[in-house]
Amino acid sequence: MSMNKHYPLLFEPLDLGFTILKNRILMGSMHTGLEDRKKHFPKLAQYFAERARGGVGLMVTGGFAPNRSGWLAPFASKLSNRLEAKKHLLVTDAVHREGGKICLQILHAGRYGYTPLSVAPSRLKSPITPFKPRELSSKAIRKQIEDFALCARLAQKANYDGVEVMGSEGYLINEFLVEHTNKRRDEWGGNYENRMRFAVEIVKAIRAAVGEKFIIIFRLSMLDLVNQGSSWNEIVLLARAIEAAGATIINTGIGWHEARIPTIATMVPRAAYTWVTKKLKNEVSIPLVTTNRINTPEVAEKVLSDGHADMVSMARPLLADPEFALKASAGRALEINSCIACNQACLDHIFSMQRATCLVNPRACYEKELNIKPAQTVKRIAVVGAGPAGLACSIVAAQCGHEVVLYESSSEIGGQFGIAQRIPGKEEFAETIRYFSTQLGLVGVELRLNHKATCEELKSEALDEVVLASGVVPRTPPIPGSSHPMVLSYVEAIKKQKHVGNRVAVIGAGGIGFDIAEFLSHSGESSILDVDNFLQEWGIDKTLEARSGTEGIVSKIEPSPREITVLQRKTTKPGTGLGKTTGWIHRLALQKKEVKFLSGVNYEKIDDEGLHISIDGEAKLLEVDNVIICAGQESNRDLFDELETSGISVHLIGGVKLASELDAKRAIREGWELGVSL
Ligand code: FAD
Ligand code: NAP
Ligand code: SF4
Repeated sequence: MSMNKHYPLLFEPLDLGFTILKNRILMGSMHTGLEDRKKHFPKLAQYFAERARGGVGLMVTGGFAPNRSGWLAPFASKLSNRLEAKKHLLVTDAVHREGGKICLQILHAGRYGYTPLSVAPSRLKSPITPFKPRELSSKAIRKQIEDFALCARLAQKANYDGVEVMGSEGYLINEFLVEHTNKRRDEWGGNYENRMRFAVEIVKAIRAAVGEKFIIIFRLSMLDLVNQGSSWNEIVLLARAIEAAGATIINTGIGWHEARIPTIATMVPRAAYTWVTKKLKNEVSIPLVTTNRINTPEVAEKVLSDGHADMVSMARPLLADPEFALKASAGRALEINSCIACNQACLDHIFSMQRATCLVNPRACYEKELNIKPAQTVKRIAVVGAGPAGLACSIVAAQCGHEVVLYESSSEIGGQFGIAQRIPGKEEFAETIRYFSTQLGLVGVELRLNHKATCEELKSEALDEVVLASGVVPRTPPIPGSSHPMVLSYVEAIKKQKHVGNRVAVIGAGGIGFDIAEFLSHSGESSILDVDNFLQEWGIDKTLEARSGTEGIVSKIEPSPREITVLQRKTTKPGTGLGKTTGWIHRLALQKKEVKFLSGVNYEKIDDEGLHISIDGEAKLLEVDNVIICAGQESNRDLFDELETSGISVHLIGGVKLASELDAKRAIREGWELGVSL
């Protein structure tokens, strides 16, 4: 056991025979968008160097294709020649200078490639990509194996400490493994021995190409969550064969990208899938890495002490806080900026071809662009409003050396974001509030709670800068009867300030309308640690007797205690504006709770009978006990108008600047950007 008194197992070194990892934290592979262009390599190097300095045991890069047919998208990251390998020296040198270790991930996209060049074991289009792949000939399969080996050899030449072979998530190797995508009748298809041949031959070829002293991680899909996926027996057979072929470590993959079961979103309980890796524990003798929704050192330590794995992979948590390991090892876990699993700035960005970053850490992947520098002149700054924008700005300005006073009219910090943490499945948001709260104390921001800043007060103080972060106020639409006692604001409903009856109409189907429906369709308290309940709700078999972990399993949903109808005026499908990688989960979860949706609605009036609407000119009455308004927000600009009239110039950030399409990602980024520039 290690000498670390806080998390002894997490900080125990791992001896791989030819090299030693300093702890059990693996930074899992994440595509950031910086891999695709040579000009971004200095940024990529800085990004990894900071995480190496932050003490992580081993890191894995985003995926690099071994050839063009393996591209994720046209001209995406690829490593197949010496010229491409050369630019990686920038990354590996930067990491090694900081005492870190890094593996390159080899990812062949297979039928998930967003390109007409994509290939697969069989000519079957995936439900999430527009192109039908070409079927690989048996000669072309041999060439693919050679390309994997060459890619690993080039990674070795570029001074990587090893490679990770992406064998999960429904990419090419995974496509060979299962009948869902492999309909071949030659030596690469049919029985399992044939279907796993591609994976095993790749590992053998790589080992032969790189020699003994080079890490080979194989990311193995232990729970496919799609029809006709692998059975548990097949997974055990594969793991043993992969070990025999020369892999150093086996990492866990959970769920294909096309699976319709959440695997990493915030509503997935912490460490919800580590039990899967545990099942493989006695089947192989090489170290196993477990993964998915592990975001605090406490949870990571527990996963290890429960014997679920030898190492813990955390990807997004290292995006959120590059110093995760250092802070944990020093017993400063309260200072960790935790990943809240929102996907809003990482995966959602990647899926819309934007550079990844992080909602709670806008510096992620912008390490060369967004930096805290000591202030030339120390200023006295007032920040009004302790929502995400005001909090981020105050902390960053204080880190630059300014004297900051933060005014908050309510009794707690967080603003609208603080309300969000009460939604079932958004409990993680509390971690961000905890982080902000810890930082306010550390950097010495003077926080004045229960203190509504006024124009006179700000005028009377000797201030160098005034920052207005007064956020938003809920919009009240001009519907006749909107002051009827049955009408509640979302704030009143979420804070349980007023009783909500059994029949409810929700006006507005945006993010908050969906959240209110989620909130009202749960009866008891939900928990971010209740794994069994989650597995039952989504129909996952914990015994793993079911093929793919799901086949033939019926999900058990606790019915909603209320009849809920969510309405919008638009005629589009409700929820289209939700997150790219999470919207489907919200829609599916509410569908399971039998929440109804109505589009193209005209609101006529609200009276004792309920909510009167019309759709296509046809009148309708919704006999409800309550109407809850989630009709968006407006900027809270009262103070701004007063300050402007008095000639005080102010900086605006977050919701008060622009309420439309506001989210915490924009609020925090604007807070940061202003904070470093004051
Ligand atoms: P606010 O959060 O509105 O904060 C403004 C603060 O200023 C408040 O605390 C207010 O009390 C204070 N204030 C105002 N006037 C004064 C004054 N004169 N003196 C002192 N203090 C004052 N966003 C996401 O990105 N992802 C999500 O999943 C998400 N889910 C949400 C779910 C719900 C239920 C809600 C309500 C919001 C959600 N949001 C989400 C939105 C997110 O919370 C907001 O976009 C964000 O809080 C806006 O930040 P802000 O700092 O601009 O303003
Ligand atoms: P929103 O997404 O803009 O939705 C507002 C809803 O109100 C829309 O459905 C709109 O639909 C309706 N509406 C607007 N004006 C109206 C009017 N005058 N009368 C009646 N209905 C009206 O805003 P939100 O739901 O309040 O969310 C606020 C922000 O928080 C969002 O921008 C979002 O980014 C963030 N948020 C994000 C998430 C997430 O999961 N990522 C979750 C919650 C909140 P019609 O105009 O068609 O009626
Ligand atoms: Fe985690 Fe959200 Fe940041 Fe992604 S954007 S790393 S999910 S907090």
